[in-house]
Amino acid sequence: MTKTLAIANQKGGVGKTTTAVNLADSLAATGKRVVLADCDPQGNATSGSGVDKFALRNSLAEVLLGRCSTNDALLDLEKTTYRLLPANESLTAAEIEIMNRDQREFRLRHALAPLRKHYDFILLDCPPALSMLTVNALVAASGVLIPIQCEYYALEGLTSLNNTIDRIRQTVNPDLYVEGILRTMYDPRNNLALDVSRQLQKHFAKLVYDTIIPRNVTLAEAPSHGMPALRYDKSARGSRAYVMLAGEVLRRNAQRQRRGGDG
Ligand code: ATP
Ligand code: MG
Repeated sequence: MTKTLAIANQKGGVGKTTTAVNLADSLAATGKRVVLADCDPQGNATSGSGVDKFALRNSLAEVLLGRCSTNDALLDLEKTTYRLLPANESLTAAEIEIMNRDQREFRLRHALAPLRKHYDFILLDCPPALSMLTVNALVAASGVLIPIQCEYYALEGLTSLNNTIDRIRQTVNPDLYVEGILRTMYDPRNNLALDVSRQLQKHFAKLVYDTIIPRNVTLAEAPSHGMPALRYDKSARGSRAYVMLAGEVLRRNAQRQRRGGDG
């Protein structure tokens, strides 16, 4: 069964795209069939996957507006084995346009429906806002993976995200759940990071992944070479952390299936 995960946090620069690209690549490296959908007009997941976002023929914008099929927009990549549904700035105009259309919250869910039988994972890289694009991702997803940078305002943002998730669960997507909370850009020498990390564990217990993504220069450098970190330097601490995260995601998924969840 396909698992669709929205990687979301309305706070900017917390590691959503880094997580989306590297988790997609690490899952694909285990042999899973993976699609990464770039749902952010910044197009960072697109360029970070080695695709020129200024030269797209079809992208998520055209898909959401019904101008091309999802399969027509999907790209095979040179340097990795997941497939990419790319995006660029045209997604901003598309987002405004869908506001006046029917079923505006369901556009992405409908667009992804034809992929479901063919892939194990669909990862959705969300923009840093609780916008219509993020709502579309949360309606299309079964789980939400929330990257968090362990700093002072981290917990505040989490409340509004949780409220949005609750609202969507109560209205259009009753099965939506928080898949996990991921600590990113972690520096253990920073006392505040330690403190916020402890608070997360206290409040959210098992929802917090055991895997911690360290602050690591390879993770920051790899996108400028248009490839996931694992392809750029597989021995880097950041690359290994995302491989461990993929293992944890797979284990949680298997446990959920055994308990009779949606998978
Ligand atoms: P936005 O909200 O703008 O979409 P984001 O949440 O997707 O941002 P990223 O783009 O993944 O965040 O990361 C922000 C910046 O931090 C990028 O320059 C990225 O390369 C860098 N970065 C992300 N994770 C790490 C890490 N673990 N170690 C070092 N640098 C990192
Ligand atoms: Mg991003």
